[in-house]
Amino acid sequence: MVYFKTDEEIALMKESNLLVSKTHAHIAKMMKPGVKTIEIDKVAEEFIRDHGAVPGFLNYNGFPNSLCISVNDKVVHGIPSSYELKNGDIVSVDCGVYKNGYHGDSAYTFTVGEVDEEVLKLLRVTKQALYLGIEQAVEGNRIGDIGHAIQQHAESNGFSVVREMVGHGIGKELHESPEVPNYGRRGRGMKLKKGLVIAIEPMINLGTKFIKQSKDGWTISTVDGKPSAHFEHTVAISKEKAIILSNFD
Ligand code: MG
Ligand code: MG
Repeated sequence: MVYFKTDEEIALMKESNLLVSKTHAHIAKMMKPGVKTIEIDKVAEEFIRDHGAVPGFLNYNGFPNSLCISVNDKVVHGIPSSYELKNGDIVSVDCGVYKNGYHGDSAYTFTVGEVDEEVLKLLRVTKQALYLGIEQAVEGNRIGDIGHAIQQHAESNGFSVVREMVGHGIGKELHESPEVPNYGRRGRGMKLKKGLVIAIEPMINLGTKFIKQSKDGWTISTVDGKPSAHFEHTVAISKEKAIILSNFD
């Protein structure tokens, strides 16, 4: 079942998503060597609660924290811990907020100190792939157009697309229909219509596309141990241009 949102609902979702991007901006200054990922999680939780909202991921299917923090070869769903950031790390922070009955969801991959040139390229290409996907998220296009644009850009730059984890509809529930894969064929899948709100979230690997789940039951990492990047925005489908609800700027 796909839920189409009214303009009033989209305005509320804008509020939830804006708080997600403000949380990202707030923790950005913590991306320094020696900072523990659990400390970042605590600061984010406090910030979200101070703004009259609830962390959207906390206790979701039993997830123990407010942020998913996935460092280097971790793809997504990393659990904040006593791990201390070090020079050269990349840190994917996925943040969710629940406010006024609606979810916000956005992810950003930060750098710590000096990062290898090819890893910086991975981050650049993943972010570009997200925006190319967003460009396709207009009324009349199809879900496959989004995935195609993302896959095309990632693979033409020599990177690979995670298949098992995908974007999603979002609203009163964190994960709603439809699924939004980061790969696909033009002209395939559900037709996009005004009122549809989706989270587009390319997970792009430097090496192989294959992933594994850790024994903690959550953390997803690359099979070959090479880095992975993750950028995500929640967007509302519109006639000419998707409206980015979680604007990081
Ligand atoms: Mg997310
Ligand atoms: Mg998401």
